[in-house]
Amino acid sequence: MLQLVDIKKDYLAGDNKVEALKGINLNFRNSEFVSVLGPSGCGKTTLLNIIGGLDHYSSGDLVINGKSTKDFKDRDWDTYRNRSIGFVFQSYNLIMHQSILNNVELALTLNGIGREERKKRAIEALTKVGLLNHINKRPNQLSGGQMQRVAIARAIVNNPDIILADEPTGALDTETSVQIMEILKGIAKDRLVVMVTHNPELAQTYSTRIIKLLDGKITDDTNPYEVKQNESRKEEIKPKTKKRNTSMSFWTALHLSLNNLRTKKGRTIMTAFAGSIGIIGVALVLAISNGFSGYINTMQSDTLSGYPVSVSTATIDYESFINTSTEQSSTEQENNDDHVVVYDSVIQKYIQYGHYNNITSEFLETVKNFEQQDKEKPETQQQLNLVQYNYVTPLKILFKDANNNTKLTAQKNSISVFSGGNANTFFESLANNDFLMTQYDVVYRTADYDPTDIYGLTLVIDQGNRISRAVMNDLGIKLTPKIDGTYENVSFETLCSKVYKIVFNNDFYTIDSSDNVSTLQTASQATLDSLYDSLTTELKITQIIRQKEDSNTELVNSGVLFSPELGALYRENCKNSEIAQKQQARKATETGNYTFFDPFKILISEFSGIIPENGFADTDAINAFLNLYFKTVIPADDAYELAMQQIGASNTPQSIFFYAKNFDGKKSVQEMVENYNKTATKTNQIIYSDQSQLITSTLGAIVSIISYVLIAFASISLIVSSIMIGVITYTSVIERTKEIGVLRSLGARKKDVSRVFNAETAIIGAFAGFLGVVVSYLLCIPINAIITSLAGISGIASLSIIHAIALILISTALSLIAGLIPSRYAAKKDPVTALRTE
Ligand code: ADP
Ligand code: MG
Repeated sequence: MLQLVDIKKDYLAGDNKVEALKGINLNFRNSEFVSVLGPSGCGKTTLLNIIGGLDHYSSGDLVINGKSTKDFKDRDWDTYRNRSIGFVFQSYNLIMHQSILNNVELALTLNGIGREERKKRAIEALTKVGLLNHINKRPNQLSGGQMQRVAIARAIVNNPDIILADEPTGALDTETSVQIMEILKGIAKDRLVVMVTHNPELAQTYSTRIIKLLDGKITDDTNPYEVKQNESRKEEIKPKTKKRNTSMSFWTALHLSLNNLRTKKGRTIMTAFAGSIGIIGVALVLAISNGFSGYINTMQSDTLSGYPVSVSTATIDYESFINTSTEQSSTEQENNDDHVVVYDSVIQKYIQYGHYNNITSEFLETVKNFEQQDKEKPETQQQLNLVQYNYVTPLKILFKDANNNTKLTAQKNSISVFSGGNANTFFESLANNDFLMTQYDVVYRTADYDPTDIYGLTLVIDQGNRISRAVMNDLGIKLTPKIDGTYENVSFETLCSKVYKIVFNNDFYTIDSSDNVSTLQTASQATLDSLYDSLTTELKITQIIRQKEDSNTELVNSGVLFSPELGALYRENCKNSEIAQKQQARKATETGNYTFFDPFKILISEFSGIIPENGFADTDAINAFLNLYFKTVIPADDAYELAMQQIGASNTPQSIFFYAKNFDGKKSVQEMVENYNKTATKTNQIIYSDQSQLITSTLGAIVSIISYVLIAFASISLIVSSIMIGVITYTSVIERTKEIGVLRSLGARKKDVSRVFNAETAIIGAFAGFLGVVVSYLLCIPINAIITSLAGISGIASLSIIHAIALILISTALSLIAGLIPSRYAAKKDPVTALRTE
């Protein structure tokens, strides 16, 4: 039972107050057919909206089943509309993009009723209004009368207590009007129907009570209803069973929006395409920067492979060296014709700026820690390809020449000014074979090639498959000269069939009773031959590698690589050799200066051009030499270490090469050395060489500029994309104002309305993202073709799957965020105003 107690409704139109209802007192029976008559603008619609809880009274009270609605919350009104009220409007207010069945189901959906039940009840309601055959049609495929019947079915599907019809026949012809009235009359048998109409005859014929309204006041009531106090109380005693509040599931919202978008396919595709332009922008930027950073990474890695940061025992203070070079050239510019300019020759300059790097155990430890820390990082964050420790390993090799005579290949044991410069044929391979193979291809392997065999040798040939004659001599391969001075080619098989035997120190150095040393270099052929036969450790070339075609980095010289394991084994043997043991014994007994064995004197003689004609004696000589050479007197202990290195008996590396993966890695290496220098004494200062200084800084700057530009582009694209989607959603809200009103009249909460629009933006966003990703993938093809033809770099634009998925998600999320304001605006729309819009 419904009671209106002195209901007043004022509207504020600008500064004017419009009194739409001026104190309405009405009681309605639980089942009757009430017609409200009155001229236009007298407040009929306002009255209905207030009864239906769509609009709220300014003063008075609406009493529902004896319960005041004065302190109803939005939530309570929503539930009241959904459970107790069915609205029928003059303009039907069907949702045009939903099927008839879905239109009717909507009220039940909001109620949270299951799919099957919903369909059953909707069909029941549609059968009642005689539309069973049209349930799958869309509203615009029906006549006006049929549409109004759908509206009635929608109003009754929830079995509400009250049906409110606002001029339901206003737009219909007489015949159809009669049909509608018949239906309403039937409905009114067991519930309250309040109908506003302009047609007094219809009212007279069908309704059981006629109320006349004029200027917001009741002027006539044909069948008023007086409520006795106890009656209303009786109602209060048995209140309706408490029901759940209404709510719309996200899927309903999605379904509603999806259908809406489906009816506007063309427009949706266009808007999604507009939105996708931003995504395309970002996707392309990502694709290019992805490929570009990959390219930069390999380029960095390749460049830095060619120019490792190195720390060598004997080095040059390049900085001072280069500075004096420029000073000198500036003096030369002031040339006059009355004097000569004196300058240091290159070798003299080397001497002047030569620096002795004392690779102490502390420094080695620092380096090992640094290396270890990098290895512990996740693969993608590692900065180093390899830290290569180069030891002096003066391998001596015996082999048979073409005449079956045993020949000796002795490694030259020298401190080379040019770090890595190596005139030898046999040298130790890099500690990281994978890294080596980034720049080399395997061209040949013997059948018995075994990567774990430490006695297997690897021959390195250049890009033209060439090997120098000197190396061939050291390998003992017989060369056949041709008439034009070149040589016959040598087959891989020939190279790989040759046997090499290692001579260890005890066989190489012979020490007599008075400690005079003689070497195998002066031995007779017979001695060599018998030694060859007695040796058991055999080496063979089992693999031939060649620098990759696109590589311009020589990681190793051409010649023969032996395994680092063999190197370690050899040095260990050298350490235990007689000559090493004796030298060690001398160190133990002599204090300060040590008397060195011959091998180290040989080293000095190699530099005879820059030592005094009379030469030096032992330690003094060494120090004098080193002083001249390195501009520093090295401690006797270090001289001892150097001497031991010359006979392969030292595990102190002669140089350390840092192969960084990227420029940051190189920086880290330099920082590591600089930090070490802060703690080291003056004589132990380490000077590193870095020949890639210039390339590094230029390339580094370019890389960061390009990435900033790309990031800027991506951000702009994203912002544009979001704004676009926001605008689109706003347009959609404006377009669907009426639908918002309908949803609210059916009891949808504000939240539900915003959900519908959020769902719509999410769909558009996801679609835009998907479209953007697809278009980007397609665009990558021509972009790559252009870059390849322009710069010769292939596959620069490559969008990763992860980025693609992320972009679709981002597009969806951004659209949702961009649509939040319009969707909240939609939710806040006054349902009455929304329904009034056309
Ligand atoms: P009816 O349905 O009888 O034609 P209404 O109930 O629609 O009349 O309107 C009653 C009066 O209230 C009219 O004068 C109308 O102009 C005014 N009115 C209705 N809604 C509003 C509103 N939202 N703002 C201002 N005035 C309104
Ligand atoms: Mg009206």
